[in-house]
Amino acid sequence: GYQTRQNAINAVTNYKPSIEPLNFAETSPAEIFGSNVFNDKVMKAMLPRDVYKSLMKTKLAGEKMDPSIAGPVAAAMREWAMAKGATHYTHVFYPLTGLTAEKHDGFLNPDGEGGAIAEFDGKLLIQGEPDASSFPSGGLRATFEARGYTAWDVTNPAYILENPNGTFLCIPTAFVSWKGHALDKKTPLLRANQALNKAGRRFLKLFGSDDGSMVVSNAGPEQEYFLLDRNFFFARPDLMVCGRTLFGAKPSKGQELDDHYFGAIPRRVLSFMMEVERELYKLGVPVKTRHNEVAPGQFEIAPVYEQSNLATDHNQMVMTILKSVAKKHGMACLLHEKPFAGINGSGKHLNYSISTPSQGSLYSPGNTPHKNMQFLAVTAATIRAVEKHAKLLRSVVATAGNDHRLGANEAPPAIISIFLGEELAEIFNQIELGDLKGCKSKGCLEMGVDSLPPLPLDSGDRNRTSPFAFTGNRFEFRAVGSNQSIAGAQVALNTIMAESLDFITDEILKLTGGKKAGLKEACQKVLQEIMKKHGHVIFNGDGYADAWQKEAAKRGLPNLKTTPEALPAMIEPEVVAVFEKYGVLSKDELHSRYEIYHEQYCQHITTESLLVVKVAKTIILPAAIRYQGELASVAASIKAAGIEPRTTLLQEVTDKLRDLQENIGTLEKIIAKEGFKSIEEEAKYKVSKVLPAMLAVREVADALEGIVADDLWPLPSYQEMLFIK
Ligand code: ADP
Ligand code: MG
Repeated sequence: GYQTRQNAINAVTNYKPSIEPLNFAETSPAEIFGSNVFNDKVMKAMLPRDVYKSLMKTKLAGEKMDPSIAGPVAAAMREWAMAKGATHYTHVFYPLTGLTAEKHDGFLNPDGEGGAIAEFDGKLLIQGEPDASSFPSGGLRATFEARGYTAWDVTNPAYILENPNGTFLCIPTAFVSWKGHALDKKTPLLRANQALNKAGRRFLKLFGSDDGSMVVSNAGPEQEYFLLDRNFFFARPDLMVCGRTLFGAKPSKGQELDDHYFGAIPRRVLSFMMEVERELYKLGVPVKTRHNEVAPGQFEIAPVYEQSNLATDHNQMVMTILKSVAKKHGMACLLHEKPFAGINGSGKHLNYSISTPSQGSLYSPGNTPHKNMQFLAVTAATIRAVEKHAKLLRSVVATAGNDHRLGANEAPPAIISIFLGEELAEIFNQIELGDLKGCKSKGCLEMGVDSLPPLPLDSGDRNRTSPFAFTGNRFEFRAVGSNQSIAGAQVALNTIMAESLDFITDEILKLTGGKKAGLKEACQKVLQEIMKKHGHVIFNGDGYADAWQKEAAKRGLPNLKTTPEALPAMIEPEVVAVFEKYGVLSKDELHSRYEIYHEQYCQHITTESLLVVKVAKTIILPAAIRYQGELASVAASIKAAGIEPRTTLLQEVTDKLRDLQENIGTLEKIIAKEGFKSIEEEAKYKVSKVLPAMLAVREVADALEGIVADDLWPLPSYQEMLFIK
C-alpha cells in the first residue's frame, strides 16, 4: 500500500552509493579488453599451429570445420578457463524466446578412485544436450525427440563469465533438433550469412571486384533502456511482472521539455555505465557511445559495429550485463519497448551494412565511376528487397511490446519505407527516368561513366522518422524493439539481400551474356526497371505525419499496425519460397516460428490482462474506496455541524469507482473467453477485445490517481519513478 510507496521514496531519497567509483587509471581499458575471451590471440598462443590455422580457415573463409580440431581446442579452452577460476562450462544458446539460455556442467568428473579429474573433451565441446523440452519449438520437435542438441559455433569465440558466485566458461552454440531443424535464433543467421556471402560474391564477380574474401553483413545495434531505482521497481507489480507500467497518470513534467536528451549524465547512472562498460570490455564487446536518451530516465549504449553473428551474441551480452549491473547499483534496467505510456519508448536501431575486408562497406559511395556503379547496384538491390518484402520486415519486429512503439510518433511508423536523403534520392530519380538521351541534357548521370556528386556523410538533416534510412555508408533499420534479439531482422535482411543481389546479377547476365562490354548499359537498364517497379518505397518526408499514412496507402505500401496483422507475412508463399531457395528456413521452420510468435504474443497479453485485474482490484480500488470513505465521513460531520457540505468530489470519486468496477468486470468477462479455434483467432481477439478493455480500466484508474489524496495512493507515480535519481 501507501507505506510501500513511501518506503521506496525514502530509500531513494537516502540512497548512498555502496560502490566504489571505477578508476580506469588503475587498470586501463586496453588491458582488460577481451581479457575474458578465448580470442584469436589466446588461441594462437595455446593451440598447435595446424589446429589454429584450420580453425581460422573456418572462421575467416567460411570453410567447413574439420572435426579433428575439437579435441585440442577443448583441451586448450579448459586449461585457459580453469586458470581463470572457471569450474563449469556451458553451451550458450538462443532459443526462440529471444533470451539467452545456458545449462552448466562441471569440469570435474569422479575418477573412480575417490578423487576427481577435470574433463572436457572435443565431444563435449562440439555437441551438448540441454534438457530443452521446455523451449518453444512450434511443433518441430515431437516430445519423443524432445531433446534437441546444441552445436558449437566455431565462428564466435568462447568466453568466461565472472561472477562473485561462480565463474564459468561459455561456448556459443546453435540449437537444433535431431532432424536438423533450427530451434533457435543463431542457426538461421548462420545460414543467411552463407547465402549472402554466396550471392554477394557472385554479384561482385560480375562487377570485377570479387577478391576471394567473404562478403559479410555487419550490425551496430544502438540499445536503448530505462533505469529506475529498484525500490520503485519492487513497489510496482506491473513493472516486476510485465516490464512495463499498466497504470500511471502522465507526469505534469514530461519529456516535452527535452532537457534530458544529451544532458549531463546523472552521477549514479554514470557509475553504472562505467561498470557496464568494464564488464563488456572484458567480454570483448566494443561498446563505445553512451548518452541520455529522449525520455527522462532513458539512456543508450552503442558498440562499434561488428560482423552480424558476433554483433548478435554481443548484443545479448549487453542486455544481460545491463540488467545485472543495474541490480548491483540499486536500480532496475527496463528493456521493454514501452515501459511508460505517453513517454518515449525504447528501440534498437540496427545499423546494417554489407562489406568485404578489402572494400569495406558496399554501401559506401566510391570515388570512381566504376565503384559508384557497384554502389548504386547494391543500393538498388536494397530498395528492391525492402519494397518486395516490406511485410516480412514488419513481421520480424512484431512483438506485443514493440506494437506500443511503432507508429506512436516517436518511433518509425508501421509502414516500411526507405529514406535515401535528398542527393541520393535525386540520383535514383534520374535512374528511373532513364532515357539517357533526353536525360543527359538535364544533367543526368551515366552509370559507370560519370561520378556521383558527393553525398553528405552523416548529414545533420538525417531523417529520424524513417524505419529504414541511408546514413552515408549503411542503412539504419529503426523498427527493431529494444527487447528483441537482432537476429531476426538480420536473417530477413541477409536473405532478401541475397535474393536481390542474385536477381540483379541474373538480369545483367541475361543482357550481357557474361561479356564485360555491355555492363554499364545493362546495369543502367536493370536499375531503371527496379526503380520503376519498387521506387515507390522511397520516402524522404516526415514519417510521423498523418499525410504520410494517406500517401503510403495511395502508394500501396502495407501498414500493418499490430503483431497479429504483421505475423502472417512470415508464411506467405513468396517468403517461404525465398527462405527455402536460400536454405535459410524451411517451410516447417517458418511455420513453427509463426506459431511460436503468436503464442508468445497471446501469453504476453494474457499475463498483462490478468495483472490489470489484480492490481485494479487489490491495489487501486481499495485506495479509492478509502478516499471515498474519508470524503463521506467528512461530509457527514459537516452536515452534523449543520452546514450543507459540497459533495462534488465525493460524487466524482463515487462515479469513477463505479466505472472502475464496471470496467474491471467487463475485462474479466473478456479474459474468460475460451475455446479459440486457432492461435491466430486468439491473437486477433487479444488485439481487438482484450487490449481495449485493459485500457478502459487503466483510463479510470489513472483519472483516480489525479483526484485521490496523494497520501492514500499506493503506486509510485511516473513523476517519482522518472525524476528521482
Ligand atoms: P547515431 O545515434 O548517430 O545513429 P551511434 O553512434 O549511436 O549513431 O550509432 C551508430 C552505430 O552504427 C554504431 O554502432 C556504429 O558502429 C554503427 N556503424 C557505423 N558504420 C557502420 C557500418 N558500415 N555498418 C554497420 N554499422 C555501422
Ligand atoms: Mg545513437
